[in-house]
Amino acid sequence: MIKVGITGGIGSGKSTVCTLFKMLHVPVYNADIEARALTNNDAKIVAGVKGLFGEDIYQDGQLNRAKVGSLVFNNTELLSKLNTIIHPVVASHFQNWLFKHQYCPLIIKEAAILFESDGHKQMDKVITVSAPEALRINRVMKRDALTKEEVESRIKNQMSEEEKVKMSDYVIYCNDVELLIPQVVNLHKELKSLS
Ligand code: ATP
Repeated sequence: MIKVGITGGIGSGKSTVCTLFKMLHVPVYNADIEARALTNNDAKIVAGVKGLFGEDIYQDGQLNRAKVGSLVFNNTELLSKLNTIIHPVVASHFQNWLFKHQYCPLIIKEAAILFESDGHKQMDKVITVSAPEALRINRVMKRDALTKEEVESRIKNQMSEEEKVKMSDYVIYCNDVELLIPQVVNLHKELKSLS
């Protein structure tokens, strides 16, 4: 099995690219969505997070992510404690998913923080989805109804696209110039040839 990580900055087009791979019957594990669901539903995580921040950090079964964000912002010790609670559960969830897909020749893990979480070390190949910053800002403003400043501050908190590209095996350009589908089809062919 060839394990491929897909990463990229906010609004770069990761999910769009993954939708195309899914249409080519490649199973995709979306690490951000799964981690979010586990943070709300996994009993071990819920107990750990409540122990760290108090019972009222969950409202109607949903973690108050904005509050957690503001509490761990600039508090690396608290952030590391939070990661120690969440990461092992998410890692084992991914391992179970991998086991279920063990007979697939090719699988994809989509993760915004693939490099930051060292997730790339478990992958055979990594793809970065790249798009110009101005385009990414416009896309996310439209998609999430955020202001330009709000998107810019999220971008500032992420690893730069340049660094991600340097650490990747492949780049998919998801912009207004290059055609996306042929890039995905060609890369799919190449990745399948490795398996
Ligand atoms: P995030 O990290 O914020 O979840 P992402 O990298 O997964 O974002 P997408 O959700 O795939 O990015 O794309 C961001 C927005 O841009 C979406 O609304 C999507 O429909 C749009 N988009 C992505 N690629 C293109 C494209 N090639 N042309 C037009 N719109 C696009």
